[in-house]
Amino acid sequence: MELLERLTRRQVDTLRALKDGEEARAGVRLGRVAEILAISAPSALAHLTALESLGLVDRYRGRSRLTPKGQSCLLEYERHHRIVERMFDRMGLPRERLCEAAREVDLSIGHATIERLCVADGHPGTCPHGEPIPRCPHRGKEES
Ligand SMILES: [Zn+2]
Ligand SMILES: [Zn+2]
Ligand SMILES: [Zn+2]
Repeated sequence: MELLERLTRRQVDTLRALKDGEEARAGVRLGRVAEILAISAPSALAHLTALESLGLVDRYRGRSRLTPKGQSCLLEYERHHRIVERMFDRMGLPRERLCEAAREVDLSIGHATIERLCVADGHPGTCPHGEPIPRCPHRGKEES
């Protein structure tokens, strides 16, 4: 089972909070993570600790950063999310609802199914909002 499939929604959102912002390189302070997620600092710390034990986050002097494994896991999440957005787009959901709708199911769909959807969709390069879909082995080495 892929690591991503074992994460909770909150854990994925915590990984995303560490990617955004100019502090991402130096590490994001606990208070900032809590603020981005709109949760208490102790709750944010619990998510960070769980992610650290999975090797996805590094904590040093009160700042948290994604490890290479964490970055890789986040790319895999973006892949799931954006492929699901395309599926809902083709089903006719309004464009402004796609992101929210995709978040309801993107973690529940297994890796193998996402790969089949990617094949069925012709190995798409972007989501309906123009964001890149990473890691398709059929799309050369342009992934980042
Ligand atoms: Zn989205
Ligand atoms: Zn593909
Ligand atoms: Zn999108």
